[in-house]
Amino acid sequence: MKPPRPNLYRDTWAGEVRADHVDQEVRVAGWVHRRRDHGGLIFIDLRDRTGLLQLVFRPEEAPQAHAAAHSLRSEDVLTARGRVVRREEGTVNPHLPTGEVELAVDEIEQLADAETPPFEVDSDKQVDELLRLKYRYLDLRREQMRDSIELRHDVVLAIRNYLNERGFLDIETPFLTRSTPEGARDFLVPSRIDPGSFYALPQSPQLFKQLLMVAGFERYYQIVRCFRDESSRADRLPEFTQLDMEMSFVEEEDVIGLCEGLIQAFLAAGGVDVQVPFDRVSYADAMLRYGTDRPDRRIGMEIQDLGEAFAQSEFQVFRGALESGGVVRGLKAPGADLTRKRFDELTEQAKQFGAKGLVWAVVEGEGWRSPIAKFLKPEEMSAVASALGAAEGDAILIVADTADIAARVLGQLRLDLAPPAEGNDLLWVVDFPMFEWNEDENRWDPLHHPFTSPKGEMNGDPGSWASRAYDVVWNGWEIGGGSIRINRPDVQQKVFTALGISEDEAGERFGFLLDALKYGAPPHGGIAFGIERIVAMLRGSESIREVVAFPKAASQADPLTGAPAPVDQEQLDELALKVTKPKE
Ligand code: ASP
Repeated sequence: MKPPRPNLYRDTWAGEVRADHVDQEVRVAGWVHRRRDHGGLIFIDLRDRTGLLQLVFRPEEAPQAHAAAHSLRSEDVLTARGRVVRREEGTVNPHLPTGEVELAVDEIEQLADAETPPFEVDSDKQVDELLRLKYRYLDLRREQMRDSIELRHDVVLAIRNYLNERGFLDIETPFLTRSTPEGARDFLVPSRIDPGSFYALPQSPQLFKQLLMVAGFERYYQIVRCFRDESSRADRLPEFTQLDMEMSFVEEEDVIGLCEGLIQAFLAAGGVDVQVPFDRVSYADAMLRYGTDRPDRRIGMEIQDLGEAFAQSEFQVFRGALESGGVVRGLKAPGADLTRKRFDELTEQAKQFGAKGLVWAVVEGEGWRSPIAKFLKPEEMSAVASALGAAEGDAILIVADTADIAARVLGQLRLDLAPPAEGNDLLWVVDFPMFEWNEDENRWDPLHHPFTSPKGEMNGDPGSWASRAYDVVWNGWEIGGGSIRINRPDVQQKVFTALGISEDEAGERFGFLLDALKYGAPPHGGIAFGIERIVAMLRGSESIREVVAFPKAASQADPLTGAPAPVDQEQLDELALKVTKPKE
């Protein structure tokens, strides 16, 4: 960092004092990170944004400063002036960038008092998360948090630089708007001027970025807050940040190619080097082999279809599943020490994921140790063992069910049984279907969003329509997803119709988009990346809250400000709102 303008408080960053400052007079400012009173000498580690500097107070040379240092406490704020000196041999700290030197203080002024913090700022001890969030401003003083927030900045800067060099314009889109469906609930904001009407906070800038393409901006991006009211899940935040992008006159290859370079650039900002291009895996293949559309291929253990091996099986569970249009699939858990008890647990787990049951087996000699071994022919067992590459002592887990359930269950078991994986696996998932069937609502839902362009014909069963969507997956996490969009109003209406949205309803909800598509909409496509997920993965953080300065807790509440909070009756009256179910 460039040095600060010399003022009352400082002329040098504490964390940037080095051996070439020796014998210079400097003034630094910051917080008391730690204080050690050695009877005679007092040492203080002074902390500012840039790091730590050891201050030394000598009773003979600077009695006043020494006396003042005596009463300082952790997290007090001060400014100190002194001479940079080399540390004595044996006291050099190689772990600290300033560790070769210290500041022999001549003068000190305390600028603010600090009460004893509710947790230690100078350690990385585990602290209850709600307490950390309540005192987030103290939590953010801790080294780990500072590093996370700095890394987030570096990642965002790498993104901005990369896109700026390629002609992308950073354009803001509204927060007070209409619903932008991305599959979650909207956060609503009541209108005072028009009582009974509501703005929705955007789930994404999807429609606006498409309008910007209609407007001719060609290349847009925004690092933008999005709002989705989902039941709290460990990996979701009600407000989160996306890198949102859109380009005109592009095909899939243009977006994917540009994004591979972009991903390479922002991962490099976090010290991760990856090779491009990334592999591509079709949705169908991902679901079959990994049981998920965001596979982590580092862990191997691919799921295999065993339908052929059991086509003639006399074991009713397998035959029944196959005859009713279902599947029999399995995976190998290599050399696992799987006891009966563990298999029972896994069976329970499989049931929780929706399976009717789980078949387990351990390869032993020529046959299997398994409750169903007696129902199987030796050639079935050997066909399965060879399909899975299973050898002596390997466990085999088999699910006979619908394709969806088999994928979900085996996909989960695969993750649960996987050994820890290292390295980086980046891939694109492509060839998604347009829709997925929503059992509960008895209708089709878009697999991405309703503005995704279909690929090829839209005839017959909507379940068979393919889309021009693509997701990018890093180590089993979807870090980005997008598509080529629909740019013709008739196609857009056809998709709405397939989703059960009538022309009237489409006109009401998305008329502005359908109108815009009538005025010369270029072919366009884009993508959005989840910034928090990316930074959290680069930091090795479990939770995305670790890379947000002021996140909501898992409950969606903010322990710091107390939001959400009731409001005055007057405010409710102004908005013509009545609370029918007040909080107890
Ligand atoms: N709007 C999409 C999302 O938020 C991303 C995209 O299609 O560009 O997931």
